[in-house]
Amino acid sequence: MDLGIKGKRALVCASSKGLGRGCAEALAAAGVDLVLNARGAEALAATAEELAARHGVKATPVAADITTEAGRAEVLAAAGEVDILVTNAGGPPPGIWSDWSREDFLRAIDANMLTPIALMQACLPGMMERGWGRVVNITSQSVKAPIAALGLSNTARTGLTGFVAGTSRQVAHRGVTINNLLPGIHATDRAVALDSAVVKAEGITMEAAVARRSATIPVGRYGTPEEFGAMCAFLCSVHAGFIVGQNILLDGGALNSTL
Ligand code: NAP
Repeated sequence: MDLGIKGKRALVCASSKGLGRGCAEALAAAGVDLVLNARGAEALAATAEELAARHGVKATPVAADITTEAGRAEVLAAAGEVDILVTNAGGPPPGIWSDWSREDFLRAIDANMLTPIALMQACLPGMMERGWGRVVNITSQSVKAPIAALGLSNTARTGLTGFVAGTSRQVAHRGVTINNLLPGIHATDRAVALDSAVVKAEGITMEAAVARRSATIPVGRYGTPEEFGAMCAFLCSVHAGFIVGQNILLDGGALNSTL
């Protein structure tokens, strides 16, 4: 399918690896020029080079922490006018509800709620003026069904979801759509980190930890960044102009619900 976005310009945050990279790659395959971001310069430069060479698009790496004001300013200045914004950042650490301090909450809210909101506030006016834009926020399945150990994520991402629910309906008449993509368990470094925490806490093997979590997914395995990226690229396509303010769960059927 021709996604109709060849030559558009996308800012994909936190995209040297994992789900962000999956989104960047799928957009590049559709002919979209990229501004890529991550903190680690080396892996980011390698990803940018690889995607540019493989798909014949421009890929500009900007090494910065997207959760800081200075980092965002640097990334936004390099990005200029963007047609497509994919927000993403690392997720908060696991823990127990009784342990989290005010500072822990503020860090999580800053990274996973206020950062995507600030990026949207920066990019939406230009998109609205030009009459076309796409925003996809990478959030989490924890928005639909809380994950006990990820209370910081449950909290911050639900706040973002509320912002998107209201804002997406205020910008849609100008050709701009905002939607959220909710990953269930995907095979990325984040999944390895969460599984490693279980291995350490329970003294089981990595294989056992992965098998146990895979068994909670009707598909019987973790999702892939490629599958995730394909959905992101579709939401950014010309065909998705009537999809507004949705929370699309990619979890292999893990959430057991009728609707
Ligand atoms: P990942 O494999 O750990 O990749 C994270 C990417 O983000 C890397 O490129 C990393 O590069 C970059 N990054 C992290 N923090 C950043 C920051 N402050 N500024 C700029 N770049 C940053 O993670 P993932 O699995 O793709 O997860 C992406 C998001 O989805 C996370 O918020 C995660 O919590 C959420 N999620 C993931 C899953 C899953 O199963 N994978 C499930 C639910 C939700 P640097 O480290 O070099 O900055």
